[in-house]
Amino acid sequence: MILVVGGAGYIGSHLVKELVKSQDVVVLDNLSTGHSWAVNTRAIFVQGDLGDPTTVQYIFDTYKIEAVLHFAACSLVGESVINPLKYYENNVVATLNLLKMMKQYQINKFIFSSTAATYGMPNVDDIDEETPTHPINPYGQSKLMVEQILADFAHSYGLKYVVLRYFNVAGADETAEIGESHDPETHLIPIILQHLGGQRDYISVFGTDYDTPDGTCIRDYIHITDLANAHLLALEALLENRIATATYNLGNGDGYSVKQIIETCEQITGKKANVQNVERRSGDPAKLVANADKIYAELGWKAQLDIQDIIKSAWRWHKKHF
Ligand code: UDP
Repeated sequence: MILVVGGAGYIGSHLVKELVKSQDVVVLDNLSTGHSWAVNTRAIFVQGDLGDPTTVQYIFDTYKIEAVLHFAACSLVGESVINPLKYYENNVVATLNLLKMMKQYQINKFIFSSTAATYGMPNVDDIDEETPTHPINPYGQSKLMVEQILADFAHSYGLKYVVLRYFNVAGADETAEIGESHDPETHLIPIILQHLGGQRDYISVFGTDYDTPDGTCIRDYIHITDLANAHLLALEALLENRIATATYNLGNGDGYSVKQIIETCEQITGKKANVQNVERRSGDPAKLVANADKIYAELGWKAQLDIQDIIKSAWRWHKKHF
């Protein structure tokens, strides 16, 4: 049995949908940002909070858990700058409690959702896992702290883990049964599609004076299904004891600026956007593009879907559900 913490959220629910095809799955989620409708019906769903040890204890007492995938976290750069306490509590303290409980129950396999925000403002064109980590916001900092805890737990208690550093995840699964649904929405692609779908009057571009060719921030967008598949490979490698500890970037290796994303959304939807250029958003680095060669070399994972696939699938989901 595999425990997926945060399995009702955007990323967790896509993973669960794939994982139930090969494993028994229990999902723990407090539904603070996730949705019960997003949890695949083949998984057992426990509504509860990581901060409540009795719920975690109940799961570990009831099910024979072989490995834990941990998706439950706050993940908004801007919010983390305004409210760091929330990020250190939910992302660091809650994860530490989970790891403590896992140690007690001798569950020693863990997959952790980390982020490109751990790199901060790297001065390189493509970021590999050796790039120094200097987060520039509390969100990235909170994820890096957990990475450090994991390394120490591996060294001292034999924890086996895989850290996956996500770049910008977007898109929806091919059936458009589940997709990105945050309230409030802050991510670029769903915001553009909400606007082009008629739910917003305009799009704000946060900063046009970055040191990039068109002045807007560049990101590496990865399709949610590619991301979910990377987790399946990492889990398999952990369960088969092929890896003990590893950190991998998950991205496509292609950078797109905010303006390019808007243009691609316009082209796919056939609609014209009303764009307003505004101030930079606090905590945003100019450019984050992954080098994901390491996970290809070690686990054979490579992104299969490109920016067109990402936006087309997000638009399909959007049209069906909004
Ligand atoms: N962005 C923007 N307008 C928006 C939302 C986002 O210009 O309404 C920009 C944001 O400043 C960043 C990029 O789009 O440069 C991606 O932001 P998002 O919040 O999607 O992901 P992040 O990179 O923060 O994880």
